Amino acid sequence: MLRFGVSGSTVLSASERLGELFWEGIDHIEIGSMASAADLDFVLQGAQARSLSVSFHSPLWQGGSKYDLLDQYQKTPQEAWDQVAEELTMAREKGVEYVLVHFPFFLTGEVAQAKAEEQIDTGLQRLAELQAHYGVHIVCEPKLGLKRDPAGLDILRAYPVERWRESGLGFCWDMGDYFLGTADWADCRGQLRRWQEVIDVIHVHNGVVRGDRHSWIPVHPSHEGADGYFPVAPFFAEAGRRNALFLWEHTPHIFPDRAFAQAGFSWARSLIEAVQKERSDEA
Ligand SMILES: [Zn+2]
Repeated sequence: MLRFGVSGSTVLSASERLGELFWEGIDHIEIGSMASAADLDFVLQGAQARSLSVSFHSPLWQGGSKYDLLDQYQKTPQEAWDQVAEELTMAREKGVEYVLVHFPFFLTGEVAQAKAEEQIDTGLQRLAELQAHYGVHIVCEPKLGLKRDPAGLDILRAYPVERWRESGLGFCWDMGDYFLGTADWADCRGQLRRWQEVIDVIHVHNGVVRGDRHSWIPVHPSHEGADGYFPVAPFFAEAGRRNALFLWEHTPHIFPDRAFAQAGFSWARSLIEAVQKERSDEA
């Protein structure tokens, strides 16, 4: 089913701004890095009152592990796996739709393909066992490594899609990571097609790269074709063919204007809905 949603990142999960997440016309809210149990309840209750579904973007709590399931970065892998189990427990208790984890994430590209595939196999198996045990869907978001190292995404070029499908785990396609990690749009589209059958969530944003740093910014029609931004319209023409959950995930540092983000939302939504209409007319 085609759905739209908003991520807590759009207000940096700031306690006093959580009320801004209840955008007009959305179906879902994805939250993480929460400051308190009271904040979590505020979002859950607000979502319930508006019939919105909710998911957790791990870490659920501020300061938790974000990148440590395979390699130790900020926490040990053991702490990271324990955290996933705790978050699944909470998700089950609160009736949350899925828990999203960053997987696979390789710190650097200095890992051989065969070894990396073995690590992915083991990780998927472990996550699938947790999914079955807790009865909560797990969505994996493959990430670029440190300093935008594309190795993690490159390893997936050869990884068999059917092994992922058999695991029963979901796949989150992060627009920005794939734009940064692939050489060009045609390549990005090829990979999107390759993974389409397991993609259930798409993180929507544009990006700005300045030296070593990059920021996720809202998509907006004024950036289309402009220097320094990714062309996102062709992405929606392709990705709009999928019945995915399109989730707005950006930080408010560079374009903090709410109206700007929502104008981009309406624009992208109409592009995606036009693709869907075309598809149903074909059928
Ligand atoms: Zn993302």
